[in-house]
Amino acid sequence: MTRVLFGEDDRALARGVVALLKTAGYSVDHVEEGHLVLEMAQEEAYGLIILDIGLPDVSGFDVLRKLRSAGVDIPVLLLTARDALEDRVAGLNLGGDDYMLKPFEPAELEARVRALVRRRQGGSSSVITVGGLICDQATGTVTINGRPVKLRRREWALLVSLLTRTGKVVAKERLSSELFGHDEPVGPNAVELYIARLRKKLQPDGPAIRTLRGLGYMIDPS
Ligand code: CA
Repeated sequence: MTRVLFGEDDRALARGVVALLKTAGYSVDHVEEGHLVLEMAQEEAYGLIILDIGLPDVSGFDVLRKLRSAGVDIPVLLLTARDALEDRVAGLNLGGDDYMLKPFEPAELEARVRALVRRRQGGSSSVITVGGLICDQATGTVTINGRPVKLRRREWALLVSLLTRTGKVVAKERLSSELFGHDEPVGPNAVELYIARLRKKLQPDGPAIRTLRGLGYMIDPS
């Protein structure tokens, strides 16, 4: 089930969209403030973010800019009441994937959401399987022998980074640069910490993450 994060302060509109998306089979987390979108998008693994530009605390533009500079590459569908070409251009330049003007037809929103999710699923390595573990990059879901595993965003990024190179050693520096934004202060043990958390969540029947001292980490294909 694709997880959607929805930042919108217009409650009536939000209620309608949340109901529509849930009916269409999405799991939706709705928040009304920009700082919450920022926090949650960096913590959890979402398949899509729907983001109102006119949020009360931090504008959707600023949220988007900060997410992209923190390395969050989840597709973003921007919503705005303003019918300005500059908004559209600014939004897409900042790394927005699509753009809708309010008011919109609910059916159109659903179609755009479906298209964005499908586009992401169309990526060549959307689903990775190692042993009993299935990792679906499009929906942000991981299961081990059918059991769902809930990962935070960095645990997710770490897992995907290792899984896409299963059987190969991934250097710690590389993991660090993929997990953290350029301007983020990173402690010397940050990668170890996330490896430990991820190992715990993959137990008891998930793939093992091997430590190769001085070299990096590797997921064992066997
Ligand atoms: Ca608004």
